[in-house]
Amino acid sequence: LFAGETDFLKGVVAMDGLPPADRIEVCFAGRSNVGKSSLINALTGRKGLARASNTPGRTQEINYFTAGDLYVVDLPGYGFANAPLPVVEKWQRLLKNYLRGRQTLRRVFVLIDARHGAKAVDDEIMSLLDSAAVTFQVVMTKVDKLRGDALQQSLDKTRAALVKHPAAFPELILTSSEKGDGIETLRAIIAGID
Ligand code: GDP
Repeated sequence: LFAGETDFLKGVVAMDGLPPADRIEVCFAGRSNVGKSSLINALTGRKGLARASNTPGRTQEINYFTAGDLYVVDLPGYGFANAPLPVVEKWQRLLKNYLRGRQTLRRVFVLIDARHGAKAVDDEIMSLLDSAAVTFQVVMTKVDKLRGDALQQSLDKTRAALVKHPAAFPELILTSSEKGDGIETLRAIIAGID
């Protein structure tokens, strides 16, 4: 789907910097270190592509990639440990305006580390998506790090947390960027979005 046709377009810091809404877009969100860059790189088949969004200074930007007919949007990892309050507030305002106002945004993939399950900040972003009426789907990352019962428990807990979010897809997508699990499935899901 994406291989060889994905490129970094721009980092957006304000609503007026968004590219023209001339195609549909999907968005990836998740806490820092959840494995978001690794997943985007695995999906696009381009190592290092999403690293841009992790470099200092890029962490409060909405990062746009072109991927075939789509925009793929990388939201910075939330939970800025040391950011000053005005920076956090500016970012939250941009995020809200983006999620509420972007007509072409079709789905947000919320990444959750299979080992840790949904944390309070994940719940916050999911509530924001509910209120913006943006459909989202949870992607469990690093499933290779858990097996058997531990994985099952984590999935059960996450599914239970989704019940109270009306904008959530009930099905979880299980992925490992390291082993390749779920990558084809996720590509197919993205390809099916219109
Ligand atoms: P980001 O901050 O969300 O972009 O996270 P990264 O993609 O940089 O990944 C954070 C850490 O988790 C890195 O050390 C990765 O090597 C590791 N990681 C990412 N995906 C996986 C995975 O599927 N399996 C395992 N075992 N480790 C992973």
